[in-house]
Amino acid sequence: MKIYTLRNLRFPARPDFSLAAETSRKLGLPASAIQIQRIVRKALDTRRRGQPVYDFTLQLSFSAEVPPSKDLTPFEPLPEAIHAPIPATDLHPFIIGMGPAGLFCALAMVANGLQPWLFDRGDALDKRAEKVTEFWRRGSLDKDSNVQCGEGGAGAWSDGKLTSRGSDPALQQVFDQLLRFGAPPETAFEALPHLGSDGIRALVHKLRTHLLEQGCRFFYRHSLEDLEVRAGKVSRVQINSSWHSPQMVVLALGNAARETWRQLKHRGVELEPKPFALGFRIEQAQDRINTLVYGEGPWPEFLGPASYRLTAKTGFTFCMCPGGQVIAAASEQGGVVTNGMSFAARAGRWANSAVVTPVNSDDYGDGLWSGVELQRQLEKLSFREAFLAPVQSARAFMGGEADTEAPGSTYLPGVFPADLNAIFPPQISSRLRSALIRFDQVLPGFSQNAVLTAPETRTSSPIRILRDKEKLNCAGIYNLYPVGEGSGYAGGIVSSAADGWRLGQRVRPGN
Ligand SMILES: Cc1cc2nc3c(=O)[nH]c(=O)nc-3n(C[C@H](O)[C@H](O)[C@H](O)COP(=O)(O)OP(=O)(O)OC[C@H]3O[C@@H](n4cnc5c(N)ncnc54)[C@H](O)[C@@H]3O)c2cc1C
Repeated sequence: MKIYTLRNLRFPARPDFSLAAETSRKLGLPASAIQIQRIVRKALDTRRRGQPVYDFTLQLSFSAEVPPSKDLTPFEPLPEAIHAPIPATDLHPFIIGMGPAGLFCALAMVANGLQPWLFDRGDALDKRAEKVTEFWRRGSLDKDSNVQCGEGGAGAWSDGKLTSRGSDPALQQVFDQLLRFGAPPETAFEALPHLGSDGIRALVHKLRTHLLEQGCRFFYRHSLEDLEVRAGKVSRVQINSSWHSPQMVVLALGNAARETWRQLKHRGVELEPKPFALGFRIEQAQDRINTLVYGEGPWPEFLGPASYRLTAKTGFTFCMCPGGQVIAAASEQGGVVTNGMSFAARAGRWANSAVVTPVNSDDYGDGLWSGVELQRQLEKLSFREAFLAPVQSARAFMGGEADTEAPGSTYLPGVFPADLNAIFPPQISSRLRSALIRFDQVLPGFSQNAVLTAPETRTSSPIRILRDKEKLNCAGIYNLYPVGEGSGYAGGIVSSAADGWRLGQRVRPGN
């Protein structure tokens, strides 16, 4: 049976539609002659306000002559990437970090008959949830177990957006695994799938159960403190003051690994600075976003709460959380960090996203740690006792004036009024202001009644751990493998998971 890909199947969004009827209309063939094999992608085009349009990509077969259409092409399966296997002489590689990269690396390894041991400085998910709740309630931070650190990694308190797509087979394999471990079926084809924090955490529980059943071991509150490199090889690693000699070490550290990066550098691992982005969270009523994006009408009832993605020359929105909340996501004492999360239902009254501007050595200088220092400086400048965060209305920020009263924010444990122009370096404030002006042109009224909570500094890793493109190990150290966001080669839940998976898949028992 020959399969074809049909692109640009576009029609006005409505609650009741028949894909068979729409396909038949587009191709001018009776529906009975078309077999829909698979929905490849379902996107929503909201560029024309008041007229949202579905945009589907399908795989089809035909029981009649294939109709001529520029949008119809024979389906070509992705070529399998062939890479040399990485032999593991013992069955228990060490994986440092239980975020998406570490967990998916382990998942791929167990499929090859290995039983990796996983270590994380933070707690198991449920214990970690208690720590996060306590932090949001009282502002008492556990620096090892928080929104960024602990089982499940940084995505465990998130919107659970799974937005990374592309032609890399590893991405597809990650989606296959997500479905296998309980992600809803539409995750496979929605253009902007999301699981919510509840969905992500349920998945992490299932992954852990599976990995334990396969013989993996999980070590919580176990920190990689040091390592010894001899003759191009990690000979020992120090974890919680004890030395171990694993045959292979995977670093799946995430982007909050400041102390560990320093230790790696000290031991001769090659690192380089990496540009990233920073700014603040913007928050508005979700109803208002619905109207701005969809127009007036019953759209949210069947399309769900609206989301947006805005770009300008000097900045962009990032990690939008419809129906969500702005959260305290600090990982160090004395430094405030904001981020956003929502649950699968996205039922909250508020919408938020990061508004950020790209930063590079022109902003922070040439040193290896200059980007980290800029992050830390903004986080400290924003700090008040008990991790209160500075807030300002977007109107006041753009006008360079003070608010007459503190605007509200969903950020817990609480906020204080501030002039964010005084926290960011002038050139960064100026770029963020320009970006907001542009966003107001694209979505008129976007910044009206919006509240800014600062600072959003941990958008992606400011450091890259250099690795060999083909062998995936650290430059000059053959058994040390950096993966995921903290290695600087991935960003986001799916791409970090795929980076871990890509390595794990290649590791086979043998010499
Ligand atoms: C609040 C929030 C919301 C987000 N929302 C989304 C979203 O909706 N969609 C999306 O795609 N991405 C989102 N992200 C980003 C996403 O979570 C990360 O890109 C992803 O988790 C990176 O995966 P990772 O496995 O590489 O690293 P991480 O998930 O950061 O995991 C690294 C782990 O390593 C551990 N670790 C670090 N150093 C050591 C050490 N020395 N010893 C032992 N353990 C150590 C840490 O405790 C941590 O658990 C969000 C991030 C945050 C913070």
